[in-house]
Amino acid sequence: MILLDGKVASAAVKESIKQETAVLLANGKRAPHLAAILVGNNGASETYVASKVKNCEEVGFVSSLIRFDSEVEEVTLLNQIIKLNNDASIDGILVQLPLPKHISEAKVIETISPDKDVDGFHPINAGKLVQGLPSFIPATPYGIMLMLEHYNIQTKGKHAVVIGRSNIVGRPMSILLSSNLPYGNCTVTICHSHTPNLNELCLQGDIVVAALGRPGFVKAEMVKDGAVIIDVGITRVTDETAKKGFRIKGDVAFEEVAAKAAAITPVPGGVGLMTIAGLLKNTLQAYQASIEG
Ligand code: NAP
Repeated sequence: MILLDGKVASAAVKESIKQETAVLLANGKRAPHLAAILVGNNGASETYVASKVKNCEEVGFVSSLIRFDSEVEEVTLLNQIIKLNNDASIDGILVQLPLPKHISEAKVIETISPDKDVDGFHPINAGKLVQGLPSFIPATPYGIMLMLEHYNIQTKGKHAVVIGRSNIVGRPMSILLSSNLPYGNCTVTICHSHTPNLNELCLQGDIVVAALGRPGFVKAEMVKDGAVIIDVGITRVTDETAKKGFRIKGDVAFEEVAAKAAAITPVPGGVGLMTIAGLLKNTLQAYQASIEG
C-alpha cells in the first residue's frame, strides 16, 4: 500500500515554485502577490487562511490578509474586491468561504476578476474547465491532480467514482478525471445524496474520491481490493482527549480501507496540503499572465 503523502508531494510542488520565484526576483521582477480576505473569526477559516499566508511566504510570494468582522456589509466586501481587481500589484484574490449568511457567496465569487480568481470558483473559469480551455482549476481538485502526478498513479481507462458534486470539489474533480489529460481519461461516476446504490457503485471504483463531509463514510466493504482512495473530507470531530478538543476526520475509515487499498491519502496530511500547492500554482499562473500583459 502506498501512502499518498501530502507533505511529500506538496513539498515537491512548493520547491519548484520557490525556485521559479527566486529566478524572477534575481531577474529584478516583483514577487507574485496573493490577497486573502477573511470575514469573521471562524476557527477553521482562520487556520486555513493562516496556512495559505505562511505557504506564500515559504515560496517567496507576497501575501496580504484583509480582515472584516462578521457584520460587514456585502457592499463593503464587494468594493474591497473591486479595489483588488484594479490593483496591478495583486495577482490573485481569494475570499475564504464560508461567508456569513447575509453575504451572497455567488455575488462575491462573481465579483472577483476571472484573471485573479486563483480559487477557480468564478463561473467563467468553471465554464472554461468544462470546455477543456486554459483556466484556473479549483485548488483542491488541482491539488489532487498534482498528487496523482507526483505518485504517477495511472488513471487512463480506469473507473473513478467521485462522491460529492459541489462546485469546489466533486464536480470539477469529475470533469478533470474524465478529461483527456495525462492523469485523466477515466470513466467517471459521480454520486450525491440522491444516489440510491452508492455502495454498489463505490465498490466498482478503481479510484474513489470521497468529498462529502461525512467522517468515516467510506468503509472497507465499499471499496474493491487495490483501489486508489482519495479522501478530501475534513471534519472537526469533538474529542475531549485531544489538545484542541477536536480531531480532524476524513470521509474514509482510514485503517480498514487502507488494508484493502493500493494507495490512499491520509487525513490530515493528504489532500489539504495539496490544496495549498494548487493555490500557489494558480497564483504563479495569474502572475505570469499579468506580467506578460
Ligand atoms: P458540500 O458543498 O457540502 O458538498 C457535499 C457533497 O456531498 C454534496 O454534493 C452532497 O450531495 C454530497 N453528500 C452529502 N452527504 C452524502 C451522502 N450521505 N451520500 C452521498 N453524497 C452525499 O461539501 P464540499 O465543499 O464539497 O466539501 C466536502 C468535504 O471536503 C468537506 O468535509 C470539506 O470540509 C472537505 N474539503 C476539504 C478540502 C481540502 O483541502 N482537503 C477542500 C474543500 C473541502 P447533494 O449535492 O445531493 O447535497
